[in-house]
Amino acid sequence: MSERSCVGCRETAAREELLRFVLRDGQVSFDASKKSPGRGVWTHSSTQCFEKAVKTGALARGLRAPKSAQDEDVVNRLRADVALFLEKN
Ligand SMILES: [Zn+2]
Repeated sequence: MSERSCVGCRETAAREELLRFVLRDGQVSFDASKKSPGRGVWTHSSTQCFEKAVKTGALARGLRAPKSAQDEDVVNRLRADVALFLEKN
């Protein structure tokens, strides 16, 4: 019941093994707390799954947002946020 699907590889995993993303001000945003309100999408805590989700547009799509919600600037910031998070965890 606490299982979620990774939008990168589509396999399910426990929340603890996943990263969460939400929509904030119309842009995909990394939710390090995993507790921000609203709809969220998840990827495994790996750069491979994150990058796959970026490439396929699955982050924005999963959040029911237009593709522009994960444009290049947004993705660059997400990539930095995720890298920092993975470094610390
Ligand atoms: Zn995955």
